[in-house]
Amino acid sequence: MGRILIVEDESHLADGLRFNLEAEGHEVDIDGDGQAALDRLLEHRSRYDAVVLDVMLPGKDGFSIVKQLRSEGHYVPVLMLTARSRPEDVLQGFEAGADDYLPKPFELQILLARLRGLLRRREWLMQPHEHDTLSFAGKKLDLEALELQCGDTTYQLTQMECDLLQYLVKNAGRPVSRKAILEAVWDLHEDTDTRAIDNFIVRLRRYLEPDPAKPKHLVTVRGVGYKFVE
Ligand code: CA
Repeated sequence: MGRILIVEDESHLADGLRFNLEAEGHEVDIDGDGQAALDRLLEHRSRYDAVVLDVMLPGKDGFSIVKQLRSEGHYVPVLMLTARSRPEDVLQGFEAGADDYLPKPFELQILLARLRGLLRRREWLMQPHEHDTLSFAGKKLDLEALELQCGDTTYQLTQMECDLLQYLVKNAGRPVSRKAILEAVWDLHEDTDTRAIDNFIVRLRRYLEPDPAKPKHLVTVRGVGYKFVE
């Protein structure tokens, strides 16, 4: 059971969600305005276990909200509701720092299942246990806490940054195409020539590379995609 904030201005949708989440034993608050939701989340940092966040909102859109949360070091799990399911929108959501997304209209049962997944993961993280880690190039990636340890510095990654880095490291020495990355990491199979992945790479380079402008680990392979070099 968790405390969940629903950020959605369509009240019939928000109320329907609240009804079903309360029936599952959750405590639910609703905000219909983006700025109000952001203020509430930043003021009550540990109150919520998960946020269901619509993209199209008055006040402030969902992408900006999650981006600002993450930039302020607030890592509450966010399930984003995108109006469209175009890969660019999905990637924009993940780039902003969302943990999961659902395109509208969605099946209620799917939303409840995704939310259960986010809450389970959070609960698991709260308990003390040995975390799965991946070590490479003198760095350590905690696959559960989503923390990347580089020397004395620990970076908090988003789920997608972690998944992408893990995928690249596991394919070390092999060039991987953007299309392969989209399929493996984002589960997107559309035939799209998106460059949105490049923005993720830029961020990962900032964590990993002593000089991000001259990458030694996350190397661009012209005409193909990227390659991780240990
Ligand atoms: Ca809306």
